[in-house]
Amino acid sequence: MELDGKTALITGAARGLGLAIAQRFAAGGARVALADIDGDTARAAATAIGGGAVGLACDVTDPASVRAAIDGAVAAFGALYVMVNNAGIEIGKPIPETSDEEFAQILDVNVKGTFYGIKYSIAALAQTRGTILNLSSVAGLAGVPLLGAYCATKAAVIRLTQTAAIELRDAGIRVNALCPAFIGTAMVDRLVAPFEAATGADFGDLVAAAQGRLGTAEEVAEMAAFLVSDDAGFITGSFYTLDNTLTAR
Ligand code: NAD
Repeated sequence: MELDGKTALITGAARGLGLAIAQRFAAGGARVALADIDGDTARAAATAIGGGAVGLACDVTDPASVRAAIDGAVAAFGALYVMVNNAGIEIGKPIPETSDEEFAQILDVNVKGTFYGIKYSIAALAQTRGTILNLSSVAGLAGVPLLGAYCATKAAVIRLTQTAAIELRDAGIRVNALCPAFIGTAMVDRLVAPFEAATGADFGDLVAAAQGRLGTAEEVAEMAAFLVSDDAGFITGSFYTLDNTLTAR
């Protein structure tokens, strides 16, 4: 299998895209550590995956917590090949209604969390010539009404990805990002009400017009598995849309 012998740490892996990525990596032969601020659910998910998977409590806004999760994965597996910075939160509000505290919080989770995940995994990944995968979004590529704060954070994730890839190329560490459109997870469930209230339109109709249908977490996980595999050895500093034509028009 393409991820045989690999070990991976995935943040925000208790549910949604992080969980699907962890499940897909494990199915591909990897041993996975699922880190989440919801440690109990992450541990239960790891038990369900089996095969040596471990669950860890980790708040990506806290650098000490991120370092502890990386140390925990290295201790559990002996080495770390893959770091997936997936933990993220959303705000579905126009800019004037987004509080300063909410803006600070989304920067903390989505930008600082990704920064810490990159920064503190480098030492372990340098040992294995490993790889980093960051979750950006199509919202990192263009403005989206109601998602201004979120867009800002996801644009930042792309620039962190590119810069880290350049800095780490000669150490053999690849760094890439994924830019999915709307995928069927709890995050998108939470956006239905604000989008319907703001537009007066049915959310399903908005999605159908923009991208045909919701993507699935499994479709994102499939791309993630390829990008962290050795088959993607020449791919670094790149970001990939998964959006069923949303950004093609
Ligand atoms: P989700 O809300 O379903 O799951 C996010 C997970 O992150 C949860 O388990 C949550 O507990 C965890 N988390 C939140 N704050 C955390 C913190 N401080 N530390 C550690 N864990 C924390 O979201 P999702 O849809 O699975 O999204 C995963 C990632 O993919 C996010 O970065 C999101 O921005 C990105 N993304 C999602 C979509 C989508 O449509 N669902 C599209 C593009 C990008």
